[in-house]
Amino acid sequence: MSVKLELEPFKLPGVSDERPLVMAGPCSAETEEQVMDTAEKIKNLGVNVFRAGIWKPRTRPNTFEGVGKEGLHWLKRVQAELGMLTATEVANSNHVFKALKYGVDILWIGARTTANPFAVQEIADALEGTDIPVLVKNPINPDVELWIGALERINQAGIKKLAAIHRGFSSYDKSFYRNAPQWQIPIELKRRIPELPIIVDPSHICGNRDLLFEISQKGMDLNFEGLIIETHNNPEKAISDAAQQLTPNALKELLDRLVLRNPNVENTMTLHTLDELRHEIDKYDTQLLQILASRMEVAEKIGRYKKENNLTILQSGRWDELLQERTKKATGKGLSEEFILKVLRAIHQESINRQEKVMNE
Ligand code: PEP
Ligand code: MN
Repeated sequence: MSVKLELEPFKLPGVSDERPLVMAGPCSAETEEQVMDTAEKIKNLGVNVFRAGIWKPRTRPNTFEGVGKEGLHWLKRVQAELGMLTATEVANSNHVFKALKYGVDILWIGARTTANPFAVQEIADALEGTDIPVLVKNPINPDVELWIGALERINQAGIKKLAAIHRGFSSYDKSFYRNAPQWQIPIELKRRIPELPIIVDPSHICGNRDLLFEISQKGMDLNFEGLIIETHNNPEKAISDAAQQLTPNALKELLDRLVLRNPNVENTMTLHTLDELRHEIDKYDTQLLQILASRMEVAEKIGRYKKENNLTILQSGRWDELLQERTKKATGKGLSEEFILKVLRAIHQESINRQEKVMNE
């Protein structure tokens, strides 16, 4: 389905237009001292947008669910005394009304909320008549339509300063990333809505601070617009998300290390070389497609043969042998095992589909 959003440039007063737009602050506002001290240290790095969760959507009950309304007074102090913009999460209309009443500058919708159209619609209705910038996190499940749907609901309420936050997707295996980045999903969002800024949230993707730089750099290399990074004056003691928060000093180190590459090809020499290389890629892609099509034609012949001889499609032993043999060959040619397994499985699945079609004709 086509996407038509009425957007305005995501410009924030007092914040430079240069990439990346950086937002930082603790997962949760915990105490007035923690908020003021963290905000001041972040401000000293030249970061002008302060994030802090006031209402926290927690997976399990009986954990810290945020300080609530009291924290909004602290955010007001951050604005008044440090001149920073403040941002917090809203998950229902009550949160929206309170955040607006206390003058919070930017709102974000959390991943669990984006997944629920009723909740998003309630928030959209509460936002009607305002022009506050809103950031919509991806839903916890890897569904780009649901993400777009939430953006559309907020946009239809008249919010034109919209951006998306990529915070990764929930999965059973959390051994490496807390939320798998699945970059192809924000890439698809960008393809569908090119003018929508995407802010990467490495903190919730990684779940631990060691991986933050790598994910932040990747976000910049994909030409996304910003970063939102959980930063706490004493991360070890944080009440929520302790393992993933950075000290303000560590945030500075991360930002200083980022390499910002040029998204546009300006120089004609570079353009020429790039054109030649892209031409080569086009040639290989054409060959790949022809080879895949030929392979599937053979799969259909096999399907016909199996049908005539009343054989099952899957002979598990043959598939196992093939997988092992091809993986070995592929890794020998410098292709990663993870990649080749995905490719082989996809080819195998398509081949089964084609055989099945032939057999049941
Ligand atoms: C957060 O930003 O602190 C948060 C709760 O994020 P998410 O909705 O991505 O889990
Ligand atoms: Mn958090």
